[in-house]
This record gives sequence, structure tokens and C-alpha cells, in this order.
Amino acid sequence: MRISRRISELPPYPFAEIDRRIEEKKRQGVDVINFGVGDPDLPTPAHIIAVLCEEASDAANHRYPSYQGMRSFREAAAAWVAGRFGFTLDPDREVLALIGSKEGIAHFPMAVLDTGDIALVPNPSYPVYRTATLFCGGVPVEMPLREERGFLPDLAAVPEETWRKARLLFVNYPNNPTTAIADHAFFEELVYYARKHEVVLAHDLAYSEITFDGYVAPSLLEIPGAKGVAIEFHSLSKTYNMTGWRIGFAVGGEDIIAPFAKVKENIDSGVFNAVQLAAVAALRGPQDCVRDNCGVYARRRDILLEGLRSIGWEVAAPMATLYIWMRVPRGHDSRSFTTELLEKAGIVVAPGSAYGSRGEGYVRFSLTLSDQLLLEGVDRIGKAFS
Ligand SMILES: *Cc1c(COP(=O)(O)O)cnc(C)c1O
Repeated sequence: MRISRRISELPPYPFAEIDRRIEEKKRQGVDVINFGVGDPDLPTPAHIIAVLCEEASDAANHRYPSYQGMRSFREAAAAWVAGRFGFTLDPDREVLALIGSKEGIAHFPMAVLDTGDIALVPNPSYPVYRTATLFCGGVPVEMPLREERGFLPDLAAVPEETWRKARLLFVNYPNNPTTAIADHAFFEELVYYARKHEVVLAHDLAYSEITFDGYVAPSLLEIPGAKGVAIEFHSLSKTYNMTGWRIGFAVGGEDIIAPFAKVKENIDSGVFNAVQLAAVAALRGPQDCVRDNCGVYARRRDILLEGLRSIGWEVAAPMATLYIWMRVPRGHDSRSFTTELLEKAGIVVAPGSAYGSRGEGYVRFSLTLSDQLLLEGVDRIGKAFS
């Protein structure tokens, strides 16, 4: 069978080789500890599950959901945003339900890109920005994220010619994989460039609530004028340990949300109502589960940091996200260090290079493991590298 170039020309899945080696290790009887995946290990809070169970048996919820999301879900999302970030949204025109934010991020470029249009994509980054651009005939142009700039792209370094052809720009703060955060000054700069060059900003805010040490992550839409040029992707996945439930939402000005809703009307048929109603319970219910979650991740972060530093490795404490982003020890690259960790210690980490060429020289550790596994992992790394 002939398959499309869109698929056949995609680079191989970066984790395929690692997955194969993990399997091999397991077959040899090695008890592998996996720091590679960013999927919360903690359960969804009980009050959210209870609503799903109840609503799942209501026949009114068994039919096709609405395309844009239930009004009660859109209202809950708008109220949550207002309470959290302090700006108002029209739930009918400025909020759209998503089947997880990944779905939204993957389909949104279809609303703004024509064949040959440029999308500015950070490197390293979550891989979906680039693939989604390619899938709709767009041209991804990389914005390097460098440690010396706090992993913020240098917008002034983007050539005029690139800005002219650009229609879309992706950003993600708090950032996966670098764990970097952005301040209002950077967001103001983004809005300035977006307005000047008529570029739509797509901000992936999946980690807005996974923050530590009192840090509160801002929304790009807090910047005056941003609503006219930006869309923001919210996810319940990391906030409420709901990765398997598949629900998120997009917010932005009507001019951006309306064409995006048109794309989605032609692709999917919305999110199961019972899941939306459970999400309403999450957004409107008590938020101490979120605070408790962050407490767990902060403790794990400290365990891992202390362990890595005691080996003599320099590693910065992240203010947000589920990860630690570490420079590999001298003499290694991402892949050789990842291989050595697996061979010598039975430890899996994500090689930075899997997130783009600029991730080379780094690895990403996830905090989605129990304290006990973290301690065991750190112990093994220490023994293997001392
Ligand atoms: C986890 C993650 C998402 C996806 O979240 P879903 O809502 O589960 O689709 C989006 N962006 C980044 C950067 C992530 O790490």
C-alpha cells in the first residue's frame, strides 16, 4: 500500500528505540525504574469520579454531545479562568471544549494555516506543534530555546522575512520539557510581535497549576490586547490527574475561536457529557486537591534534586511542571547518557534530543513516581556513577 508522504516522511518516533531497550532489559529480569513518562501516577480526586459515575447512567448523556461543549462546562471553564487569572470570557463565543488539549493543539493549525504558511515552533518542545503544522501543509520554523535566555525564544532574532510569512506561533510556559517559566514582560513582547506581524499566538498552558514555592503562572490573555491575537489551551489532565479522561478547553477571542470551532465540527463530535459534567465538578469544586498534588510533586522534586546534587551534578530547582531538566555530565550526549543510565542503573529518562535538536545535551526526569521509587532510583544512579 502507498501511504502519504505526511506519514512516511515523519521522523521515527524518538522513544521507539528506548522502548525496545526497556523491553529487552525487562526480559533480562532488570527491574526498570521509568523516569521517562509525564503521566500523573496519582488518582483522580474522588468527588470528580463520583459525578462521572452518576452521570454515566443518565440516558440524557448518551447521545451526541454539542460540538462546542455543554453550556455548563463552558460556563465553569470561564468562571475558573476568571477566578484564577482575573479576566472575563463569554462562554458562548470565547470558550471551546476539547478532547484533551493535545487534540485542540493538533487541530488548531487548520484554522489559521494555508499551505506554505509558516508556524514558529520552539525547539525543544512538545512534538505536537511541529507535526500538526506539517499535517496541514504549514512550514515549521524553529525558535531555539537557550538556557542562557531562560529558555525563552529570542523574538528579535526572527528574520523580518520569516515574520512576513508567519501566521502562527506556539509557546508553552510553564514549559515542557525545559521547566522554564515566563513573566509578563515576555508575554507583552509576544503580543507586541503578534499584533505587528498579524501572527496568531497559541499558548499551551497544560502546567499552569503544577507550580511550587508560591509561584503562580500567568495567562497570556492577561496582557491587554492579547485576546485579539491569542488562543490558550487548558487541560484538566495534569491539574486533576485526569490524563485518561480526555478533556480540556481553549479560550480566546471570538475571531479565533469561531474558525477553530468550524474545524472541529467537521472532525469530531465533542466530549462525552458525563466527562464534561465531571470536569465541571473539578473546576467548580474544592481546589485543595490541586494544592495537595503540588505538595507531593514539590517533595518528589526535592528528593530527586538532593539525590542528583549529591552525585555532584548541577541541576536547577524547577518552579513548575512535572519534570527536572538536567544537563548531561561532561563527555556525554543525551543518547549516550540515557543508554548508560539504563545499562548501569536500570533507569529510564527521556533524552532531551527527543524534543528537538536544541534539547541535545539534556535529559528530562519525571516526578510521576512514588517517593520510594524515587529514592531507589537516586540510590541506583549514585552507585552507578560514583
Ligand atoms: C501533557 C501535555 C499536554 C496534553 O494534555 P492533554 O490535555 O492530556 O491532551 C499538552 N501540552 C503539553 C506540553 C503537555 O505536556
